[in-house]
Amino acid sequence: MNKRPEIGRGLFYTRDSTGHSDLSPPQYVAWARREAEKIGVTFEGTPEAITAMIKRNLSELGDVYLDFGISGNHLSRPGLDAFRRRALSDRSISHVFAPRRDRIARPDDPVDGYKIEKELRQAGLTVIFMNEVLRPSSRGDRVDVAEIITSIIAYDSSGKFRRELAEKLIHAKIKLAERGFSIGGEPPYGFRRWLTGPDGTAKRELEDGEIVKMSGHHVTWLPTSDRELRVVQRILDLIESTPVTRIARILNGEGIPSPKAGRFRLVRRVAVANSGLWNANTVKAIATHPLLVACWEYGRRAMGDQLRLTPTGPRPLVDGDYRPDGRPRAVVNPADGVIRTAAGFDPVITDERHDSIVQVLEERGRHLKGKSRTRGDSPNPLGGRIYDLNCGWLMYRHERRGRWEYLCGLYQNSQAKCCSHNVVPGDATTGFVLACLRQRALTPTALAKLRSRLEELAAAEIGGGPARSRREACRAELSEVELKLEKVGRNMALAETPEESRAMAPTLKQLRADSVRLRKQLDDLEASAPTGRDPGREVEAAMAVLDRLGDLADSQGNDYASIGELFRRIDARLYLRFRVERRDNRMVNVPGGGVLTFGSTPPPGPLYDGPTDRTILRARLASGESVAASPTGIPPGSQSPDPGVSWSAKRLSGIVFSS
Ligand SMILES: [Zn+2]
Repeated sequence: MNKRPEIGRGLFYTRDSTGHSDLSPPQYVAWARREAEKIGVTFEGTPEAITAMIKRNLSELGDVYLDFGISGNHLSRPGLDAFRRRALSDRSISHVFAPRRDRIARPDDPVDGYKIEKELRQAGLTVIFMNEVLRPSSRGDRVDVAEIITSIIAYDSSGKFRRELAEKLIHAKIKLAERGFSIGGEPPYGFRRWLTGPDGTAKRELEDGEIVKMSGHHVTWLPTSDRELRVVQRILDLIESTPVTRIARILNGEGIPSPKAGRFRLVRRVAVANSGLWNANTVKAIATHPLLVACWEYGRRAMGDQLRLTPTGPRPLVDGDYRPDGRPRAVVNPADGVIRTAAGFDPVITDERHDSIVQVLEERGRHLKGKSRTRGDSPNPLGGRIYDLNCGWLMYRHERRGRWEYLCGLYQNSQAKCCSHNVVPGDATTGFVLACLRQRALTPTALAKLRSRLEELAAAEIGGGPARSRREACRAELSEVELKLEKVGRNMALAETPEESRAMAPTLKQLRADSVRLRKQLDDLEASAPTGRDPGREVEAAMAVLDRLGDLADSQGNDYASIGELFRRIDARLYLRFRVERRDNRMVNVPGGGVLTFGSTPPPGPLYDGPTDRTILRARLASGESVAASPTGIPPGSQSPDPGVSWSAKRLSGIVFSS
């Protein structure tokens, strides 16, 4: 093994979980430069480089390694991993710089931090912290117990810091919760953050992300977004008579942006734009939110990796708080683990109304149980993605003699009165979909093609820069006008005299006209644009998903949860047509063919989207109404073999793949 030079090259690592460190990352790099210069070590990192890294979300650049926004108890981090790899393998490196031990790690187990240090030193490296220098050691060296103890104590307090911080935060949150104040996070749809004075009066609405530190002042959430509350009211009006999926469709059809529209979330550290669409869960969450009846609920979900909130104080994590891979998971607290307090505003709806809505939704949920969703650990990777084309219904999971299958939903819910006993085995059908995927989408050539196509598209998009910035400017202007509209509307509602109200009318009129004009302009711009989103981000996100696809499709047949996740990500849907066949003197329904689609490919035939509730179905059948997607409705056993289908029915092997 070639030896490292005594004075060679230096590397720098730091971690910043919140950006609230006493010194900023550029200042740390400046420190490392000064130290390197003193000893004569070559180090090419600059404060500017690390600033650029933060901006561009990079974990390594030249001699500088960084993890930004990552908590110190994660011992595998992109920056740290790359730093360790390079430090160990690059023999020109003699020194590594890190501001303090707690920048390397805030480990749950202090020994883990010590091990990282030991590995670097045994590789012949000098480790330089701001307050300590650790000389290289070799495997044969006697272990210095004092040194180990110093290191372990340092990492222990570094890890404890996280726990103590968690504990302090939880106690503070309980105090706030008991008085009905926000404990952080985002208010629900229709509500806004308000600054509340010591006497409990709401002083003013806070801007997004605005933090106010004033003694005695707190943040509370009030139902003050009139525009959103009108949508909430519509949801409430519809919810008892209309399925949530249909409400979501109605709102999407009208172009009403969903609560998270325009937001970004991190997927594998890449910001991905929210679709801006409503779905069943958004609708349900809004309709059942306890703040609608002016009741605060805290700690319904417990997350966090150190301690969790309960009404009596922090509790340590127990086995159930961890996922099988050892990472902490968010859990739903039992009812007695939830803190409830009365909010200081008038309820949006009455308690009776709220109870009734919750009850209706629970009742609907009961009918779905064991059918289209997974219960417990029972595998259901194709839940909600497999259709019987004969009637257009989803096929529901069904268990019989220890085997799981997908059986026509109409047949099940009409108690065998409609459609037919159209059924496929769950495991074989899942295997079939996976095989199609591997064959068509996940070969290295297909992946490479997809990647280059995505990059091409991105390049083309960036070419269209001016058009995009015009759209963005227009969108920003529109949202500003809408905000103003909301405020003026609210002020008019609060106006004390007719004169006051009249004085605001021209402004309101002008704002309304502006909003209409801008909306029209934006529509035109969007119609002429290929896509309206940020292409660079989308490519990165798409690639991140593609990377994961391979892992998922490689997992063996028993990991149905991952397979289900894979199907969800690519939005796989399997449409099957069934025909009657004679087997051993018995007539059975077998799949005669079908179509497997991915992404936004439209379904190959009409699908049923009416009510699925058994009671409603019975009533509809009694009155002679159709309960299938096909206009004739399908009485049992009447299907004739489809002449257009000539595939082998036994193994589903002839299914057409379309993408
Ligand atoms: Zn059917």
